[in-house]
Amino acid sequence: MTTTCIRAADWVVAWDATAARHVYRRHVDVAFAGGAITFVGPGYAGPADAVVDGRDTLVLPGLVDVHAHPHHEPAFRGIREEHGLPNMHMTGLYERSQAFAAPDDEFRRASTEFAYCELLASGVTSLLDISPAWDGWLDLAARSGLRAFLAPGYASARWRLDNDVELKYAWDEAAGQRAFRAALDLVDRARRHPSGRLSGVVSPMQIDTCTAELLRDSHAAARDRGIPFTVHIGQSVSEMQEMLRRHGQTAVQWAEGLGLLGPGTVLGHAMLIDSHSWVRWWTGADPRLADLARLGAAGCAVAHCPTPFARYGQTLEDFGRYLRAGVTMGLGTDTAPHNLVEEMRKAAVLARIAARDIRAASTADVFHAATVGGATALMRDDLGRVAPGARADLVLVDLATPLMQPARDPLRSFVYHAADRAVRDVYVDGRQVVRGGAVLTLDRAGAGERLAAAQVRMMAAVPSRDYKGRTADEITPLSLPLADG
Ligand SMILES: [Zn+2]
Repeated sequence: MTTTCIRAADWVVAWDATAARHVYRRHVDVAFAGGAITFVGPGYAGPADAVVDGRDTLVLPGLVDVHAHPHHEPAFRGIREEHGLPNMHMTGLYERSQAFAAPDDEFRRASTEFAYCELLASGVTSLLDISPAWDGWLDLAARSGLRAFLAPGYASARWRLDNDVELKYAWDEAAGQRAFRAALDLVDRARRHPSGRLSGVVSPMQIDTCTAELLRDSHAAARDRGIPFTVHIGQSVSEMQEMLRRHGQTAVQWAEGLGLLGPGTVLGHAMLIDSHSWVRWWTGADPRLADLARLGAAGCAVAHCPTPFARYGQTLEDFGRYLRAGVTMGLGTDTAPHNLVEEMRKAAVLARIAARDIRAASTADVFHAATVGGATALMRDDLGRVAPGARADLVLVDLATPLMQPARDPLRSFVYHAADRAVRDVYVDGRQVVRGGAVLTLDRAGAGERLAAAQVRMMAAVPSRDYKGRTADEITPLSLPLADG
């Protein structure tokens, strides 16, 4: 077993288990062996097969991303940043998912490899990857070096649009049950993977596209295995209106009645809830009945992904209220770029805008969410922290790079200024996966070329999928007109 020692790091964000929070430590050593951190402190005197000079270095715990769709989101670069329907309360989700879809597994392979590279290069070491199962996914996740929580998605229904006002559903419950069983098979294969870095999450896709039976069975399958359960909920006003029409309850209230909420449940977004200003359903004003009080009391987690909603003009109201309600907050990258540092920055700034209060979310709050909060959501107390006994998932940030300077408060330099540009080296389970900013395990340039070709194939199929038969350029025009010649 080889031991690596990061010697005399200028700054370390270390975990204070007694106070249950991250703290700065200065000029300390961090040693790891066998995939686990063995020492954090001054003057490491044990054996070291490899020594890393810690000067000009900030050591962070690897970031934990609890919501991403690598199989297609990178292919939406240039397509979805300004795509949304005013008639559907600004969301473009339903029109886009009908018109634009992955045409083949080669598309998914290129997109996923490209996304995994973005994630690793920005310091993400643990990833909850929510994708429809595709051939080669497990092998690619293993090869990436990431700590991957594979969440094969399935549903009893697909969204269907034939106009730009009304969200409709095409139900096929038997297909949902078949896909559920296939998903469990993949989850179990991931959990048995010899790397020990792969795991699974039970993932019925959306609260409005699954039957009560499928949701209950899914939750039970997760509990039986002792693994997390995740579902999208509260992601649009249209979804809220549909759930009120079907059940006379909000999605959160219906989910609570099904027994879906509790520790180990990760809710994708939970943003358009009863108290949100775009919804304003009456229970939101009653502290005993409000969705947020239920989420806090249940002890579940929310995967907060600021970017896609901010592009529609929406934000969580607000990050600080959720924390104070007792919700475990994690962060995710629901769209490209897969950059959890940018999500931290947006989470903090948008919380303050939503609350009109600078105290709504601190840098420490959002960093906790991107590390320990996410780890708690994934039912892991050995991730997202630099402490003896934790897994050796580490990010080494270059303090000498100009955007980190002056490094008076290096976490602020990282979150508000340099972001991924300062990530130098990344280790997962003690294995180096990024060196000098370059991903060692995957082919980033090659994946980019294959992704560009895959995006062309996806766009070619748009007129046959769109309910008005439009082209991709008609649905989402270029940001500037293309001049002749
Ligand atoms: Zn999502």
